Amino acid sequence: MAGRNFLFVPGPTNVPDRIQRAMMVSMEDHRSPRFPQLTQTIMAGLREVFRTQSGTPFVFPSSGTGCWEAALTNTLSPGDKVLASRFGQFSHLWIDMCERLGLDVQIVDCEWGTGVPLQQYQDILKADTQHQIKAVLVCQNETATGVASDVAGVREALDEAVHPALLFVDCVSSLGCLEFRFDDWGIDMAVSGSQKGFMLPAGLGILCASPKALAMYPSSKLKRAYFDLPDMIQSNATGYFPYTPALTLMYGLVEALKMISEEGLDNIIARHHYLAEGVRAAVTQGWQLKLCAKEQRWHSDTVSAVMLPEGIAGTEVIARAYHRYNLSLGGGLSKVAGKLFRIGHLGDMNEIHLMAAINGAEMAMLDCGVKLQPGSGAAAAGNYWRTHEAPSGLCAMPKPQGAQSDATRPNPALSSR
Ligand SMILES: *Cc1c(COP(=O)(O)O)cnc(C)c1O
Repeated sequence: MAGRNFLFVPGPTNVPDRIQRAMMVSMEDHRSPRFPQLTQTIMAGLREVFRTQSGTPFVFPSSGTGCWEAALTNTLSPGDKVLASRFGQFSHLWIDMCERLGLDVQIVDCEWGTGVPLQQYQDILKADTQHQIKAVLVCQNETATGVASDVAGVREALDEAVHPALLFVDCVSSLGCLEFRFDDWGIDMAVSGSQKGFMLPAGLGILCASPKALAMYPSSKLKRAYFDLPDMIQSNATGYFPYTPALTLMYGLVEALKMISEEGLDNIIARHHYLAEGVRAAVTQGWQLKLCAKEQRWHSDTVSAVMLPEGIAGTEVIARAYHRYNLSLGGGLSKVAGKLFRIGHLGDMNEIHLMAAINGAEMAMLDCGVKLQPGSGAAAAGNYWRTHEAPSGLCAMPKPQGAQSDATRPNPALSSR
C-alpha cells in the first residue's frame, strides 16, 4: 500500500522518528555499573513532567492499566470505600477494577459527555464525617468521550470538606499534554502510560506516588506481588529494577523526556489547546456536528469525539476511513459504540498532520451519507490556525528577533474577502 497509515486513534500515538531511532539499541546488562544513570535520568525527567518534588515516580513494564492496580493495591484494604464517577469507558474500567479487587465503590454515574461532578463530590465528602472514604478517583481525561475534568477542583472539594481521603488521578491520556500539577493539586497517586503523551509504544506503566500514599503501604491489606511498590523503591534507590526492565522503551523514554523538555511543558500544553481548537472548529463550525463533550469546560485538548447524525453508523465511517483512505480513527466504546468517531490530537502532532485526519474523516463521512459541505472541515480548522498565534513548538524556523507576530501579520486570504 502506497503512502503511510495516518494514525489518529488517541493511543497509541505517533512515535517521532527521533524516539524510534533512540530505541534502536543493542541489549545490555541491566545489572551493569552504567545502568543506574539511565534510571536516574528517567526519574528526574518524570518528576518534571508530573511537576513534583515530593512525589516518587515508578516505571513498570506494563500498560497504564497495571498502574491503576499498583495505585489501589499499595494503599487500600478489602472493603475500603472509594469515591468515583463514571462518565465513559475508562472511568468505568477503573471502577470495575476497584470492584474486582474487593473495594466498596461509591459510584456517581454521570451522563457520558460530562466530567467529574465537583458539587456532588463535595457534598458526598462533606457528608462523610466518619471519613470512611479512603480514596477519591478522578479520570482527568476520559478518552472515550473527549472530556477533560477539573482535577484542581476535586482537590478544592476535598479541602473544603476537610477530608483526608487520598486523591488518585488517571492521567493516561493527559500527562504531558494537558495542565497537570502533582504537587500543587495535592495528588497522591497519578497513573499514566507510555503510549499517549509520551509518544512511545505501549509497554510502560508510569506512576507517581506522594509520601502520604506511600505511608499507607504498611496498613493496606489488598494482595499485591508484581506491583509491590517497596520492592521497586528498594531497587530503584540503587538505580536498578527488581526484574528485567523494558530497556528499549526506557531509551525511548529518555528521548521523549528530552523532546518534552526542549519544547517546554507550557508550550506543549498551549500547542495541544491550539490544535484542539482547530479540530473543534472543523467539527462544530465546518461540519456543523456536535462533540460528545457537552460543554466547553469539558472539551478535551487531546481527543475529540464527534457525534454522527442519527442513522449514520460510526463503525461504517471508521471502516471506510480505514479501508479506503488508510486513516485510523478511534471508535465509539461501550455506551457510545457506533454513535461517534474520535480524532486523537495528542503527542507528536501539528496542523498539517491534523488536516489529514479532518479531510479523511470528512471524505469517509461523505461516502457514508453524512450531509456536509465538502471542504468545510478544513476551511474552519484552517481559518482558526491561520488567525491564531502558533505555539513555538510548531514553527520549523525560530522567529527573528523583533519580527511581526504571526497573529498580527495581515492575512491576504482573509483581507481579500
Ligand atoms: C488508554 C487509557 C487507559 C488504559 O491504558 P492502557 O495503557 O491501555 O492500559 C486508561 N485510562 C485512560 C484515560 C486511557 O486513555
